[in-house]
Parts: sequence; C-alpha cells; structure tokens
Amino acid sequence: MRRITESVRRRHGPLALVALVCGLLGGLGGAASGAGSVGGRIPLVRIGLAPEAAEVRIGARGDWFLGVLGAPSRPTRIPATETWILRAESGRLVVIDAGGRRRGTTPDTVFAFPDDLERGPLLCGDQSYRGEFLAWAVGDRVTLVDAVDLESYVAAVLPLELGPQPASREAALRAQAIAARSYTLSMMGRWADRGFDLLPTVEDQVYGGLAAERPGCTTAVEETRGLVGVDAAGPIRAFYSSTCGGHTASPEEVWKRPSAPYLKGVRDLSGDTEHSFCSGSPFFRWKEEWTGAQFESLVRSGLDRARPGWDQKKHGRLTGVSLAGKSGSQRAAPLRVSFQHGRVDLAGDEVRWVVRRPGGEGLRSALLTSVQMTRRKGLVTQVRIAGQGYGHGVGMCQFGAMGMAEAGYTHEQIFRFYYRGAGLHRYY
Ligand SMILES: [Zn+2]
Repeated sequence: MRRITESVRRRHGPLALVALVCGLLGGLGGAASGAGSVGGRIPLVRIGLAPEAAEVRIGARGDWFLGVLGAPSRPTRIPATETWILRAESGRLVVIDAGGRRRGTTPDTVFAFPDDLERGPLLCGDQSYRGEFLAWAVGDRVTLVDAVDLESYVAAVLPLELGPQPASREAALRAQAIAARSYTLSMMGRWADRGFDLLPTVEDQVYGGLAAERPGCTTAVEETRGLVGVDAAGPIRAFYSSTCGGHTASPEEVWKRPSAPYLKGVRDLSGDTEHSFCSGSPFFRWKEEWTGAQFESLVRSGLDRARPGWDQKKHGRLTGVSLAGKSGSQRAAPLRVSFQHGRVDLAGDEVRWVVRRPGGEGLRSALLTSVQMTRRKGLVTQVRIAGQGYGHGVGMCQFGAMGMAEAGYTHEQIFRFYYRGAGLHRYY
C-alpha cells in the first residue's frame, strides 16, 4: 500500500508535502475540486479520528516517525514499543514521549507516518490505521486526523456496512463499494472548518481502520476501483440503508429536504413478480406493541428531545394514536399522537426518533402499515404498530441489493436500479 505523505515527500521533497497538507487543511474549496478532478490519482480522505480531544495517544506496530510540518528538522524516529501523547495548551500542541517527558510544543501541525505500513501501521489508542496522521491544537484540545487514500478508506467502511458475503451476493458488495465511494466523494469537506472531511461514526460512515478490513470486501473494492456514481454536478450523494420495506424513500418524505432525481423513491421489485428484492430481510415486516402508559412515556421523552419547547404539561394524557391519512407513498402519512389537549403529527423520519421501541431503540422505519390502539375511559391502554423496513430508506436498499445479486443482476445494474439516471464514471 502506498504511503501517502511519504510518497509525496520522496517525489517532491518536503515543500510539496507542506503544500499538499496545507491544501488539505485549506478547506472545502480545495477538497471539493480535488474530488472532481483527481487527475488519475486516488484522492485522500481526512478522517477526524479524534476531533478536539483532551489528548491522543499515538504509536505504531513498527517503528514510526513524528515531525512538524514546515520545520527544517528531520522527523524523529520512534521505536515500535513507544506510545507518545499529544496534548494542547493555548493553541500549541504539546508532544510528550513514552517516558512522560515534554519533548516540545508547536503551534504548527504535527505529522506521523509508519516506517513500514504493511508490517507496522500507525495506532491511535489500540486501533491501527492505514494512512498517516496529522494533529494540531484547537485551543486546549487536540484534533487527530487520519489522511488515508479513498480506496483504503472504502475497504475499511464496507465490512461494517455489508460484511463479507457468499459468492451469490458479491454483486451487492460491489454495488455497496461504489455507493460508499460516491457518497464519500460527494461529502468531501463536510467538516472542512474543523480540518477534516468525515467523521468515523454513523454521522458519516463508520470507519473501523485496519481491524475492520475483510478479504472479501477488499476484493469488491479492488474490482470496482475508482468507479463512482455521477450526475451533472459530480459524484452523487449515494445514500443507502438496510431494508426499504418494498419502496425506497425520497429525502423530501423522510427528511423534508430537497431531493435529487437519482434519489427518487423506487418500488423495490423487478416488475414480473410481487416479491420485493428485500423480502428476505429479517426486517422486511415488523410489529411492535406497547402498553398505553409505556407508549405515552416514550413519546413524551421523544418529543422533549426532538421538539425543544414542547410543553407536555399543557397537553395532558394520551388519548389516541393513528395514521393521519395517506398521500403517495406510505411514508408520507404522519403518525398522529393525540392528547387530552392538542395533538402532534410525526412525519417522515421524525417518527423513528420520537417513538421508541419498548426496548428503548427507535422504530425501525417510517414505513408504517397499520396502527391500532385500545382505549379505556378515553385514555389509550395499548398500542400496536406494524411496519416494513429498517433505516431511512433513501437510496440503495442493502437487502434489496443482495436480493438482486442472487437474482443474477450485476453491480452496475443494481447501482443504476436504486440511483435512477446516475452515470458510472471511473475516476482513476
Ligand atoms: Zn428494499
């Protein structure tokens, strides 16, 4: 695997490295245009491994180097056994060695790279990562970023999204690799003001570093190397979720956010059968049941979180739960929760955050097929909700993609099925 900053350093000398990293740190403009015109090179993705942390502990499984960007001195070689600590004080990074000694402070960015990436990758805590680290002070906090090439990043994201699959489902894995790559490029610079592109969490995509990689998934990434879904504006925002429940959702329905033509909801079936591609999902159909008191308490705390200023005292006890009509797709029907004094309509994905399952997790999807309740003396005593799917439902349906793969569709056909009208372009 290519060593990023080191290879730049070898080719162009230290100034090029500074220019590269300053370009990276320069923000959205540079990153976004980089994503659109990579000129045959694999773009770097900056993952905010530790954004504004109190301190970070870094090391490597082999010898490693630590240096200050722009400094005339050579990077320090550090033995494999040593973990160093980075802290910050008033905008200056404090470097502390394995013996607890302060080795210096700097207002500049510090970089770390391994001597041998394959045998001795970098460590943040006990997690190993491909790529190289950059760290800087933000007041009294430290931000640590993993600058990793896009292909390595996707290889570490894919196993956490779909996991290794049998041969009959490999086309789904390849389609997922293209979706994750496209989504990443479309989101480059999302956190540019904080100095990185993406978070390693569900907020963006879960990035597990080297420990997450699986051979079957890495193969799917290599087989689709550089392949990106595009429209006229560039890489598409290729959302995906577990199980659409029979019809994918558009962003207007679930997030009240403008959509793009390639994210228009589609029926998740082939046309010559009534079986949805995702009907094999364990979440294709689900049911939940609450006592009236349980439902009332969960919805009250859900509304407190989701709608600040919601005054529960004013509303009184729970008197009804129903679907407030239907318009177009089933997701468009709000869940109406009625109280003695007033009511609340929960539309789109809000229903997943406000209505919790009896175990405490959110409803699996906003595609509700039936809502039933019983009442005594005007108050709700029991609620039953049935629905379909798991996740927001926008873009590619992962279980549907697996169903399509088993039915013999290729990764290109799967990708184009869920992202209608999007093109596929090989970036590098
Ligand atoms: Zn589906």
